[in-house]
Formats: sequence, C-alpha cells, structure tokens
Amino acid sequence: MVARRFGHLPGVSRLSYLLHTLAREQFCTGFGYVWPAKCQMSHAGNVWGPLLDLVMPRQCAVCALPGFVLCGDCRMAVQAQPVVAVSATVCAVSDPLGLGRAVVRGYKVGGHRSLAPLIADSLARAVRQSLESRRWPPRVAIVAVPQRRRAQATRGFDSTAVIARKAARLLTQDGIACVVVQGVGYVRQPDDQRGLGVTERHLNVVGSMKLSGKAGRRVCGEEFGMVVAVDDVVTTGATLAELTRSLVAGGASCVGAAAAFSTPRRGHLSGKSPG
Ligand SMILES: [Zn+2]
Repeated sequence: MVARRFGHLPGVSRLSYLLHTLAREQFCTGFGYVWPAKCQMSHAGNVWGPLLDLVMPRQCAVCALPGFVLCGDCRMAVQAQPVVAVSATVCAVSDPLGLGRAVVRGYKVGGHRSLAPLIADSLARAVRQSLESRRWPPRVAIVAVPQRRRAQATRGFDSTAVIARKAARLLTQDGIACVVVQGVGYVRQPDDQRGLGVTERHLNVVGSMKLSGKAGRRVCGEEFGMVVAVDDVVTTGATLAELTRSLVAGGASCVGAAAAFSTPRRGHLSGKSPG
C-alpha cells in the first residue's frame, strides 16, 4: 500500500533526506521544522512532520521540493492563474504549464487529500464564472463526472465528488445556493482517458453516461435554475461533453460546465493528463 501511494515519487532516500534537512540548518524556531518561511502547518503538527518524513518522504506535487505536499510558491502560482472560457459552455482555471494538473495528480494518484481544498477553490471560481452572465444567481445543481469503477476501487473514494462538494460549500458561503446532485452514472465503463488522442477520447466516453434515478429526476425538476457539469481537469473536453450530453438527454435544462483546471493536451506537456 505504501509502495503504491509513494512509489511514483522520485528516489529520495530517508538517510539522504535527513542529511539534506540537517545541511540546510533552517530549523523552525518552534519545533525544528525546515523552511519555516514556507511552513504551512501548525507548529503542533510540525512536531510529527519531520518524523513522518523519515518514513514517508513528502515532496511538493509541483516542484518536488522535499518536506511539503505543496510548497508555498507553487500554491501561490496555482492560485494566481485566471479563470477563462475554454469554450462556449466550459469555464476553467487556465493551467498552461500544468501546475494545477500536477496538484490534481498529487491528490488523485499520490493520495494527498490535503490538496482537495485548493482544487475545490479553483473549481468554485470556474463555476462562479459560468454563472456570471446571470443577474440573479439561481439555485444551482452541480453534477460531477461519475467515478469509474476501477478508479473507485483503487482510490477508495470518489475524488471528483469530494472536490465538487467542497466547491459547493465555498459557493454557498458566497451567497450562491448550490448543492451537489449525483444523478449521472455509467451505462458502460469507459477505459482510462490517459494516453488517448482527441478522437479516441471522444469515442471512449461517448454514450457511456446516463441521467437516471431519483437524483436524476431532481436535476430535471424545477428546484434548480441551472445545472453545472463539473470535472477536475479538462483537456480535450470529451468527458465534460459526454456528461453535458447525458444531462440534456435526460431532460435537464440550462446546463453549463466547469473544471478546476484547463490543461493543454498530452504532447503539449510532458506526462499524461488525468482527465
Ligand atoms: Zn513547489
């Protein structure tokens, strides 16, 4: 389990990490944690931080700086990225360098659930932008891309639904009545989108989702003035397009779409896109 969660990290041995830490001699005055200027944890938490790092070394999900799940500089860089209209119907935080995508990978693949609030903040900004043309924000239903069965089994939780719920809470705090309704499921399980080209991604997901059940009827009812389909990362837009299609086909109206990050397709950046 530990190997699966941390096996993707570059090799930072426990001993070299300890020596690296000692060599820096930048101990926090409180409890001896390194890089106090970038310290993002409470000092009480930092008592255990260095000890835990000896067992399970942490690295910034973006720049690989040791000792952090996400360093302060990378966090600020992700938060500074603006929301853009990716297409006529999709809004997302522009992520040309793949910083947000790296954060999502750290969350979904690395299992760092502490990154969820940052992703949710980006998603909330994107949803807010998609509602901007409306003078009086209606009651909004957020429908997240359903988790594939295999991903659910690997991660043990619905990563996108967690982000959607946190984003809905942020929007509600801002005065936009917003709830997550999971009325869409798969009628067939698509393959992993990673490694597929534009056409293959569309063919992989088209016709795979369906709005149904009690939650589905709720989405189609008069309770909500708008329905927003959401995902963590949009690359080609194939997954969000299929989610939107299933909502419209199921009878939902006023459907928009938003993603936490809009990242260039594979080939424009190194590595693979998660969604
Ligand atoms: Zn960093």
